[in-house]
Amino acid sequence: DDAFYGPSDVPRDKYLGGLLPEAGFDEESCLSRYKSPMYRKPSHHRPSPYLVERLRRYEVLHRRCSPHTAAYNKTLPLLTGGGGGDAGAAECKYLVWTPYNGLGNNILTMTSAFVYALLSDRVLLIDRGKDFDDLFCEPFPGGTWLVPLDFPIDFSVFEWKNNQSYGNMLRYHSIGYADGAAAGPLPNFIYAHLTHDYDDNDKRFFCEPDQAVLGGIPWMVLKSDSYLVPAFFLNRRFEPELSRLFPEKDTVFHHIGRYLFHPSNAVWGMITRYYEAYLARNRERLGIQVRVFNFQESPLDLVAEQVINCTLTEGLLPGVDAGRALVDADPNKTKAVLVASLYPQSFDRIKNMYWEHPAAGGTIISVHQPSHEEAQLTGRERHDLKVLAEMYLLSYADVLVTSAWSTFGYVAQGLAGVRPWILVRPHGAKMPEPACVRDVSMDPCCHKPPWYDCKECKSFTDPGKEVPYVTHCMDVEGGIKII
Ligand code: GDP
Repeated sequence: DDAFYGPSDVPRDKYLGGLLPEAGFDEESCLSRYKSPMYRKPSHHRPSPYLVERLRRYEVLHRRCSPHTAAYNKTLPLLTGGGGGDAGAAECKYLVWTPYNGLGNNILTMTSAFVYALLSDRVLLIDRGKDFDDLFCEPFPGGTWLVPLDFPIDFSVFEWKNNQSYGNMLRYHSIGYADGAAAGPLPNFIYAHLTHDYDDNDKRFFCEPDQAVLGGIPWMVLKSDSYLVPAFFLNRRFEPELSRLFPEKDTVFHHIGRYLFHPSNAVWGMITRYYEAYLARNRERLGIQVRVFNFQESPLDLVAEQVINCTLTEGLLPGVDAGRALVDADPNKTKAVLVASLYPQSFDRIKNMYWEHPAAGGTIISVHQPSHEEAQLTGRERHDLKVLAEMYLLSYADVLVTSAWSTFGYVAQGLAGVRPWILVRPHGAKMPEPACVRDVSMDPCCHKPPWYDCKECKSFTDPGKEVPYVTHCMDVEGGIKII
């Protein structure tokens, strides 16, 4: 039966077409890794053989260079030794990711960092922040990806003014350039400042000659709040490799997200308990993610109304038979609606609609919302476990409605491999018309791409107009995404 997917005991495509390594893990310590595929319809998108090969090669590199290996111990002193020129002593090159903003943003930037690590032959380590080690399992067999607790770097110093950022090194000529290449010794450490406030100097990170120079620096810290992969596709040094790794270009997050992010057993328990109790015994599952950024522009009751308008107009939910008091329920037509939101209004609205009136055709609609915490509580542990659980639960839906601008929704759609309907952001408390639009691809939107012309060294080349497969996002003006 094509529509009905409850969890099955028979692993369906346990290793996700070769995406996941088949050996090297203790399965009990991270049940989600191989069990999660049982909760989804098989993906329509298979990883390319070349991606599978590159991942296995990366895993060998990671095992050799992970913290406290001989190679790591030999390279670590370069971080604190100051000076430059002795990068030849580096056994491995590292990319250290550090968190910024909410969990959705962080999952997108970790994915970007891993893709960049593949492109630049670096080993990815993550600053665990408050709780990343409690949220996720280790993704690579045989070596941790967590920065050791005694790592000699204070991550709080990384912001725009930091004098070890690539942008500031260019600005103050700490890195000399001649004829498009570095002149003089390179530092052993560089900070890539790629958050939304980055300037033209920082943006040179995305240019070809600059990447050639950065490749000679053994330690790099990267901080961002955008999904950077679409911008990597615009770099001519990276594009051929990316296209080989991802012949279906808009599957980057779909594959890499499923490869990297395995909820810890604590989160997996929450996911499966909820799934079994509320979602499993339904023919269809609709996920609705409601995120409101501005209550004046988008009052919660208006947004709840908008959710109804969108789902009814697009036929995602059945209409109600207001003329009849009773319609016989059809036990073969069951639909679960999973609402993820900080607020209760949309949930109440849908639930009441189908309580007060019968659904046309007798469909049995159940509506569920795991939490409504009212406020964003990023970094509080129990809260973040719930956030990840909700993202995952959403990603088990067959059909998704997401909110414009929300990275939370991007994660769910990417993991699910579905192209969502996006709730258009209301302005001036007016109902948008249409209420929602179908996204052009499942890959996330990069909110703040570099509008920068590498050849002329100046701002304002439109990154959505350079190649046909990178276009402007429907939900974020100025953003770009892969199609
Ligand atoms: P974005 O701000 O929508 O792009 O998504 P982020 O995940 O980066 O940040 C929003 C944060 O707000 C989340 O990480 C959660 O902490 C919280 N949040 C937003 N929406 C929800 C929700 O539906 N459920 C829960 N539990 N938390 C949410």
